[in-house]
Amino acid sequence: MDYVIATIASHSALQILKGARDEGFKTIAICKGGKEKPYKLFDVADEIILVDDFSLESFNAVEIRLKEKNAILIPHGSFVSYLGTERCTQLSTLYYGNKAVLEWESNRVKERVWLEKAGLQLPRQFDSAEEIDCPAIVKFHGALGGRGYFIAKDAADFKAKIAKSVYKNRSYVIQEYIVGVPVYIHYFYSPLTKELEVMSFDRRYETNVDSIGRIHTTDQAQLNVDVSYVVVGNTPLVIRESLLSKVIEMGENIVAASMIINEHGLFGPFCLETILTPNQEFIVFEISARIVAGTNLFINGSPYTDLKYSAPMSTGRRIAVDIKQAIEQNRLHEVLH
Ligand code: ATP
Repeated sequence: MDYVIATIASHSALQILKGARDEGFKTIAICKGGKEKPYKLFDVADEIILVDDFSLESFNAVEIRLKEKNAILIPHGSFVSYLGTERCTQLSTLYYGNKAVLEWESNRVKERVWLEKAGLQLPRQFDSAEEIDCPAIVKFHGALGGRGYFIAKDAADFKAKIAKSVYKNRSYVIQEYIVGVPVYIHYFYSPLTKELEVMSFDRRYETNVDSIGRIHTTDQAQLNVDVSYVVVGNTPLVIRESLLSKVIEMGENIVAASMIINEHGLFGPFCLETILTPNQEFIVFEISARIVAGTNLFINGSPYTDLKYSAPMSTGRRIAVDIKQAIEQNRLHEVLH
């Protein structure tokens, strides 16, 4: 029986479904009622399954239909946040990727263990405000999109700001604030070819941190604007060619270190979220172990995929290629965990 590619209609679903179509798969978009317009307009789905919400009950009913169609689910950022890590792990529909990775990427302690094992440079972390000895960023947990994050220069500054924060009851981390430019690196690792690929790079467009510099510093101080990091879009980036060997090495190391998760490790698309310093060092503050929305820039391929592929290769399409090759080589079990 043929396989169908399915995902939740949000985040990077357009490129996932288009990429699957380009590789000859039929596609399904699981769509919250009222949100189906883009998926119809861009005609990427052979079938749209409408749901009222993503509650356990609704999604159980969807899973029955998906299994009848022999569908393979492709996770993405909104997919994981709509269903939650635990429910994603319990899905019984065929699922591209290693579900065990979700727990490691969503738990900041485990994530740090993994990144450290890979030998990557991370921002220093302070266990208490008293330890702050350089500019620090205070990041609250939960899907806040960077809302409420603040910069503290020492313990006194931290205490004054946390006392005023509306998020003060949430848990948070205090990290060294890295001065540099944000660089998001999009990778793909196939367990079939055992090769790491650099797909593309982006930088995020975040409001209001990316606009605060448009007004004079004296006005910034007087207006007393709270800085936030809510992502509203992405812009493309190419990096200095001399940095590419470091980029490849970091990706290879994170894949090798992912064997601490389980024997399947990390595969498929993933992203290292970094700040590149004036010393040309990548400081990694997060890993996204799945397709990131920054790859939406490259539905028609990126300068890097152009070098490797003769066809326009989006990350969504690269996933479909992996699945197609796995089917052809009778190795589908190797990409569904
Ligand atoms: P999540 O995916 O968990 O919702 P995120 O991907 O938006 O979060 P965060 O780690 O919350 O990433 O960071 C949000 C913003 O804060 C980013 O723009 C990033 O550049 C900036 N940032 C995060 N950590 C640091 C740091 N240690 N130094 C400098 N900037 C940082």
